[in-house]
Amino acid sequence: MPRPHKPRLVSAMPRFTYFKPTGIPIPLLTEIVLTVDELEAIRLKDLEKLEQNECAARMNIAQSTLQRILVSAHEKIARSIVEGKALRIHGGPYALEGEVLCTRCRRRRRFGQAALENCPDCQSLRSNR
Ligand SMILES: [Zn+2]
Repeated sequence: MPRPHKPRLVSAMPRFTYFKPTGIPIPLLTEIVLTVDELEAIRLKDLEKLEQNECAARMNIAQSTLQRILVSAHEKIARSIVEGKALRIHGGPYALEGEVLCTRCRRRRRFGQAALENCPDCQSLRSNR
């Protein structure tokens, strides 16, 4: 069984989730998916101008993981702009701050429902807190 991803903390859900070049109907476009955690990494590094170790701490991940996320995110954004592809922001192994993500069944629940309780869905004790 593959080791589950450690969820990456994000501070808020993105407000804008779809971008496309003008003048080309959506059915004719190739779509690139930028994950919510990739967008958070870009936001922290490129807009909030945090150092990589600070970004990693905020997302509760290793700096090497953050580095990989940034490389992937930059490539997707560049490809979308340069090659005229639609960009959908969706999914990824993230957990919203204030939420716990069960690392076994991937269901989310609000933080405060006792983080140390077993997951109500799969009874796993494994979560991101
Ligand atoms: Zn579960």
